[in-house]
Amino acid sequence: TRQIQLASRPQGWPTHDDFDLVSVELPDPGPGEVLVRNTVMSVDPYMRGRMNDVKSYVPPFQIGEPLDGGAVGEVVASGDDTVRVGDTVMHGLGWREHALLPAAQVRKVDASAVPASAYLGVLGMPGLTAYTGLTRIAGLKKGDSVFVSGAAGAVGSVVGQLARNLGASRVVGSAGSPEKVAYLTEELGFDSAFDYHDGPVVKQLAEHAPDGVDVYFDNVGGEHLEGAVAHMNDFGRIAMCGAISQYNADTAAPGPRNIWLAVTRRLTLRGFIVTDHNDLAREYLPRAAGWVADGSLKFRETYVEGLDRAVDAFLGLHKGENIGKMLVRLDRG
Ligand code: NDP
Repeated sequence: TRQIQLASRPQGWPTHDDFDLVSVELPDPGPGEVLVRNTVMSVDPYMRGRMNDVKSYVPPFQIGEPLDGGAVGEVVASGDDTVRVGDTVMHGLGWREHALLPAAQVRKVDASAVPASAYLGVLGMPGLTAYTGLTRIAGLKKGDSVFVSGAAGAVGSVVGQLARNLGASRVVGSAGSPEKVAYLTEELGFDSAFDYHDGPVVKQLAEHAPDGVDVYFDNVGGEHLEGAVAHMNDFGRIAMCGAISQYNADTAAPGPRNIWLAVTRRLTLRGFIVTDHNDLAREYLPRAAGWVADGSLKFRETYVEGLDRAVDAFLGLHKGENIGKMLVRLDRG
């Protein structure tokens, strides 16, 4: 079976030379272990940070070791009574075609109403990130005007729809192409959306959110954050979720030059990491499942085929090649 290992630590944008695709032999599962044939793996922006040798909220990937991350698959051999051959499971050993791991580290998922891959997106970590940021971090209230950047991505597409479902008065999104803008307004029910390539965020946001912004969900940082600060209403809240415009930069971008407005407008800017809020899954997952079932929470997935192309998928994610969740299909190609 094959897996992808870190060959060297990328400087700026990663290249294919930073990764090795290697073949390994896996033993049969021992007592309490399971062998999973991975069908779909996730690529996520946070993995870029793990390629650097810095102390953060998750340990860095190690050179010469396989990468890891969310994946779903089918159990093909089991040494544990609680997990059966044929079960569909989710676990944390992606970036490989087969995963051998303790049964306690896999979670069975119900793939009858949604594809198993949904647990890597709308019903998984990205969905919970959207819910946490909107509710617990930004304290969304009925009638709030909401702006989200990275709006056509895994987290952002859920943010906009949840905001609407939870009573926002206006939902505005920004994304990187006309196709994405159309997806937001025509399929996901955003009130308005713009392509950030079409002009300065500060100018476009003024047109799309004429009454200002009460909640900004920041996936992008940089110019987007500065543009949003400029249009925040008094007592506005900014959930600082990510700053993808900065992850591959080799020099730090200057902070928002207008951050002093946080004083005069009494703004709250609060960063968060979803794994500190796993308790909210109990609240989010049943609500999300209901919204998915009644059509008020839609999701799209972008697939790249085969482990050979997983690095392309990861790079493509940072270039905006995905609509909705970026995934790699491992059981074909
Ligand atoms: P997405 O599915 O949103 O994919 C990333 C998207 O970022 C791309 O599709 C691209 O879309 C956009 N992008 C890339 N470069 C830029 C740029 N320079 N300016 C603006 N947009 C850019 O990824 P996720 O939904 O998984 O993650 C979204 C954000 O949420 C990330 O910042 C991530 O780090 C963060 N996150 C944070 C978590 C937390 O716990 N705090 C948990 C999970 C995610 P486009 O075409 O629109 O440019």
